[in-house]
Amino acid sequence: MKRLAPVFSFLVFILCAAVTIAEENRVVVIGIDGWTASSLSKAELSVIKRMMREGASTLSVVTEMPTNSPTNWSSLFMGVGPDVHGLTSEGPMKAGYVPKCPSIFALLRDQKPESEIGAFYEWHKIKYLFSKGSLNHSQHLPRMFDVSLALAVAPYIKWKKPSLLYFHIDAIDHLGHTNGFDSPRYLKTLEKYDKKIGKIESFVKKAGVFADTVFMIVTDHGGKGFHHGGDSPEERYTPLVIYGKNIKKNYTIKREVKIEDIPATIAFIIGIEPPEEWIGMPLDEIFMEQ
Ligand SMILES: [Zn+2]
Repeated sequence: MKRLAPVFSFLVFILCAAVTIAEENRVVVIGIDGWTASSLSKAELSVIKRMMREGASTLSVVTEMPTNSPTNWSSLFMGVGPDVHGLTSEGPMKAGYVPKCPSIFALLRDQKPESEIGAFYEWHKIKYLFSKGSLNHSQHLPRMFDVSLALAVAPYIKWKKPSLLYFHIDAIDHLGHTNGFDSPRYLKTLEKYDKKIGKIESFVKKAGVFADTVFMIVTDHGGKGFHHGGDSPEERYTPLVIYGKNIKKNYTIKREVKIEDIPATIAFIIGIEPPEEWIGMPLDEIFMEQ
C-alpha cells in the first residue's frame, strides 16, 4: 500500500486543483461609452435584452457630474467620486499620469496576485486609469474593427481564462457626437455591438468558464443631442445589466444605484476587500439565495 501513497496524494492534488478552478468567480465587464437608457426601447438589442431577462438590471444608475468619460470611468474603476479621484477632464490622461486611487484592477492584482486580468479598449486613453502594472494583458483595438474580436479577444479568453476582463466600446459615444445620441446610425451601431457582446459571451462559453462568470454591461454617461457633460436625465441616468453566475433572473434592481456601486459589486463577486474610502455598496439584492 505504501507505494500507492504518492499516487493517492497526486490524485488528491489534482482534485483540489480542479475544485479551486471551478469555484473561482470571474467577471467580464463590457463598457459601452455614452450608452443612453432610452436606446433600449429604440434599438433591436437581442443579446442585451436577453441578458436583462436572464439577469438583473436598471435603467437609472446615477452617474457623477460632469457626465463625461474621465470622471465616470474613474468613479466606476476606483469606487470614489470626483472629489476624491480628482479627474474631471481628459487633459491629465497622458503618459506619466498616475491615478490618485487604486482601480479595481490594481486591487485585484494586490490582493490576488496570481489573477489573470485583461483589458481591450477602443479608447486608448482609458488605459491611464487602470493603474500601471495591474494588467496581464492590455490592448488597444481600432474602433469598429470587426475582426479584432476573433483575432485578439477570443484567443485571450480561451487561453488565459481571465478572472477580470474589461472590454471598452468607444464607437457608440463617437456616433453620439457625430450623428446624435439615439440617432438612427447610433442605434444601428449599437445593434452591431450587441451582437459582439453575444460573441464575447460565446468565447467565455467555449473557454469552459461560463458557469463561473458574471457579465456586467456598464456605461459612463448617456447623451443628449450631440453632447454630454450636463445634468439632464438623458445624460445622467444610465443602464446597467448584470447577468450570469448566481444573479437573479428577470430582476429589476429596486434601490437607487450610483456608479460607485458597480466596482463595489465587482469586488464582492471576485472576493476582494474594497478600500475604506469607497462610497459604493455591493448590489446585494441581485444575488440568488445560496
Ligand atoms: Zn463623449
